[in-house]
Formats: sequence, structure tokens, C-alpha cells
Amino acid sequence: MAVGARDRPPFSGRPVGGAGSDGWIPPRVFDSLSPNYGPARPKTVGIIIHGTHGGADTLEREFAGTLNWFGNVASAVSAHDVIGPAGEIARVVPDHLIAWHAGALNTSYIGIEVVHRHPLESVPEPTFRSLVWAIKKYAVRYGFPLINATTPYHSETSQGVSIGKVDLFPRGSSEGKAFRAKIRAALGIS
Ligand SMILES: [Zn+2]
Repeated sequence: MAVGARDRPPFSGRPVGGAGSDGWIPPRVFDSLSPNYGPARPKTVGIIIHGTHGGADTLEREFAGTLNWFGNVASAVSAHDVIGPAGEIARVVPDHLIAWHAGALNTSYIGIEVVHRHPLESVPEPTFRSLVWAIKKYAVRYGFPLINATTPYHSETSQGVSIGKVDLFPRGSSEGKAFRAKIRAALGIS
């Protein structure tokens, strides 16, 4: 049976290059599967950018703690990818399936978690580079334009506002605006 691009196994266990990657790939991509997911997402209009905000004492422990939490069925939460402090990407839910990261928006958005212990913490450069790589990859894969509206912080979404979310950065914060400007520059958004 011929296997199309959309039918290939979502987890290769290896970095994925190709369109949108600019030839740069994250230092490591690995699987850390979560039991918290739903069926195939009916449409994909963008990516919601989250911050983990677990308050761990190191970024490494923040990353590991997030993967543990997403791996626990009792948490009932997940995301598609979690990006660690060295730019490593843990793939938690296959990207064509529904991850549990933003309520009713789960059926139309990819969810990416950035290791981020506190609301105003700066994001490590390797983490930033992997985030940009992932955004470009999914924009090509699902065909949505790269504009602010397709890459909101969780705190900027209707669902995030409704429950008082402050990740990745608090809505309207100067830190959030500066990080947004950096994302726009890296994505070539004028
Ligand atoms: Zn969030």
C-alpha cells in the first residue's frame, strides 16, 4: 500500500528536516508520549505557544517535570511538543491528533510548550531557535499563514483570557512584546 505524507508514522524518533527548517534542526528530538490526547484534529489554523510555569529550581527539572505531568493520565493535560532548555524537543502527542492544552481550541490548534519556570523569565536562545523551527515546520505542514493571529501566546487566546492564563508571557507585558518581536523577526513577519 502506498503511504502518503499524511499517513506516515508521526514519530520517527529522529530530527525532521525539510521545508521550513532553514537547514537547521534541533539538537535532539525524542518521544515522550502522553496518554492525554483525542482523535485526529479536524482542522489546524495555528499554534498556541505555552509556557510550562512549574516553578522548578532549574530549567532541566522544569522540562522533566512537565514531561512527567503530561505523561500522567490524572493530569488530563498535554501538548504536542515540549521544548527544553538546550533546544531539545519532546514530542508528546502526534501532531495530527488532538492534544489537551487549550480547551475548545484543541480541535483547531497545535500546542507547543516552552520550558519557562515563571511568567517573566527569559527564554534560552536554543529553546527559541527550536520554537521557530517548529512553528515553520507546522505552518508548512498544515498550510496556515505565519501571522500573529496564527501563533498566539496562550494568554492571548479567548480561552486563555477566560481562565486567566499568563503563559507564555502575560498578555500585554513588555517581556511578551519583546519576545513577540523576536519571533516575528525570525519568521520574517513584517
Ligand atoms: Zn498554556
